[in-house]
Amino acid sequence: RKQLLAREMGLEPPATVELQESDKEIDPLQVSVLSVSSFIAQMRTVVGDGEATESARAQAARQLVRLAEAGVPGADPEQWWATQTVAEERPLNNKPRLSPSRIEALLKCPLNAMLKDTADNNSDKYHLVRGNLAHAYMEALGRGADEELARRETVEAFEKIQTSPTWKRAQERDEFEQLLVRTNQWIQETRGVLELVDVEVRVDVESEPGVRITGYMDRLERAVGEGGEEGGLRVIDLKTGSSKPSDEETSAHPQLMAYQLVLAHGELQQEGGLTKVVSSSQGEERDGATLVYPGTDTKKIGTADQARKGDEELAEFAALLPPLLDELAGPRVTARISPECDRCPLKPICPVQAEGKVTTDVNA
Ligand code: SF4
Repeated sequence: RKQLLAREMGLEPPATVELQESDKEIDPLQVSVLSVSSFIAQMRTVVGDGEATESARAQAARQLVRLAEAGVPGADPEQWWATQTVAEERPLNNKPRLSPSRIEALLKCPLNAMLKDTADNNSDKYHLVRGNLAHAYMEALGRGADEELARRETVEAFEKIQTSPTWKRAQERDEFEQLLVRTNQWIQETRGVLELVDVEVRVDVESEPGVRITGYMDRLERAVGEGGEEGGLRVIDLKTGSSKPSDEETSAHPQLMAYQLVLAHGELQQEGGLTKVVSSSQGEERDGATLVYPGTDTKKIGTADQARKGDEELAEFAALLPPLLDELAGPRVTARISPECDRCPLKPICPVQAEGKVTTDVNA
């Protein structure tokens, strides 16, 4: 094989030697496959081999030039990922903002938080739209819609997005309707201790100079005391999944912490009949924040309550945010290994994973 290769490259073929018994064992990594990509890989290996002779490297390069000129895919260095420089060095975003729902993902792994959506498949989109429909139903109830009508319309919309096999659809539809029924049940059960301020409350607050938090609160409620007296504001976030965080996780839940931070640095404002939270030096009185899980398989609707956070705890949380804005601004983004990596769709191109290094490590 060495002789053949040398002849193809116009080199002096090495002298033939008698094979010893041990030499006859085949190293699978050295076996060359008769394919275009395998031949190009061989040429590339020789070109980049610091121990190969100058003439061998020059000959391999000459062969690659010939192949590239003939339009053979993979022969032109322009098509070699590992030899390309970074495409863009300018910031990706000059005025990045944080949304409460993305902070948790950015804290875990900024690369995943920024690129996962591009890799998500259709099944994830189905869950996204299903969640959006449940939120739309909750919003409709908050704006005074008739419960039965809102539920019927939402279930009909859900039926239109179903792509599962026919035998499964009735069960999925019933489960979705049950989710809506239980969402309404939670709302009814909490009247008396909570009083609705507004739904889909727009947030645009600067928690400190340069750190802007924007997004929406599913529901903003005011706590009501036993004697009917008004308490602080409580943010409610609807979750359509069924895995509830532990008490410890809820206490440090970044999305809920972000909502509390927003209320500590904001004030309610009315605009066109809608409530907004905008920056203010005063801050609003807070009662805490709650995740509601109507999809849990328990008689009582699952909730995860985060108690009111003091100024010190909120300041500690706020200190985590500026580095996240740097990540969003780019152009360099951190990939951080965590237990989430096993489920991450970006693993094949992630630079800190063995699978992704091949395509992303420029200096490899
Ligand atoms: S594989 Fe892990 S480190 Fe890489 S992007 Fe995904 S979550 Fe981040």
